[in-house]
Amino acid sequence: MSAELPGHHRYINRIAATPLVPVRLESATVWCKLEFLNPSGSTKDRIARFILEKAWRQGRLKCEDRVVEASSGSTSIALALACAQMGLRFLAVLPEGVSSERVFIIRAYGGEVKTTPRELGIRGAIAEVERLGLEPGYFLPRQFANPDNAEAHRISTAREMVDQIPGGRVDAVVSGVGTGGTLVGLFEGLRESGCQVVPVLARPVNLTRTHDAECCSFSSRIPGVADSISEIFRPERVPGLVTVEVQDEDAMTTTRELIRLGFPVGPSSGLNYRAAVEVQRKLGDSAQVVTVFPDRMERYFTTELFKPFV
Ligand code: PMP
Repeated sequence: MSAELPGHHRYINRIAATPLVPVRLESATVWCKLEFLNPSGSTKDRIARFILEKAWRQGRLKCEDRVVEASSGSTSIALALACAQMGLRFLAVLPEGVSSERVFIIRAYGGEVKTTPRELGIRGAIAEVERLGLEPGYFLPRQFANPDNAEAHRISTAREMVDQIPGGRVDAVVSGVGTGGTLVGLFEGLRESGCQVVPVLARPVNLTRTHDAECCSFSSRIPGVADSISEIFRPERVPGLVTVEVQDEDAMTTTRELIRLGFPVGPSSGLNYRAAVEVQRKLGDSAQVVTVFPDRMERYFTTELFKPFV
């Protein structure tokens, strides 16, 4: 095992705990983990750092390797930042049509961007990454299959929540699912800490069915939340799972309300919050419901979220 992490990454080898804040809207209070305050602006810093550091320590990742990942954005941005800090090369494979803000951020960190045909969606990008991975010199974090994705949330995000919430008690955990790493890792971590926690999937429902390029093959207009391409999100890992459907329009409106309250978040935060309010109401006043605000609003200036402000 190589002990020392490369680059100046080793001096930044801990992400400070993100705040857990009670947020009150529509007469319900939900505890929200401000994951958009992570260094690259999303919760994906947790998995990027955990996966790369573990692979480096185990000798599976070498300084001459090129890290390559398929992602709608947040994971690629987090990996691009971590690779910049570690002095590693990074290639993001993205479906055509992803917003230019994302591409610019990845390039600014020294990452390269390769696009796959829009009509193939995220699956096309994943297939291209797997093809590259057959050649030597590539390291594949594989966020949709790597168990270390959920593990990162189990050992960091979940433990922080238990330390931060009054009495260390969480009754329900609510999240949209992309890879499922967040929901599975949080559920497992909270349960291990002794919480009798109900896992809740916040599922966006698309009524208007416009095919926003930002969402590629995703099921709705809420970026980052996808249907059924993950090997991590399996029913047996979240026994008693409850699904709460939220209409895209409501998720968008709620996101704008959260921004207005001073939380500069993206659409998946509105989705999560909206579903969590419903759960809180069902479980009653004394229930402590937690959710996450995964990423920042700045990634969505050119999308529907900001239309009212143009
Ligand atoms: N929100 C955003 C903005 C995301 O990018 C993602 C993941 N791509 C998620 C939520 C879902 O998180 P997870 O992959 O852990 O299920």
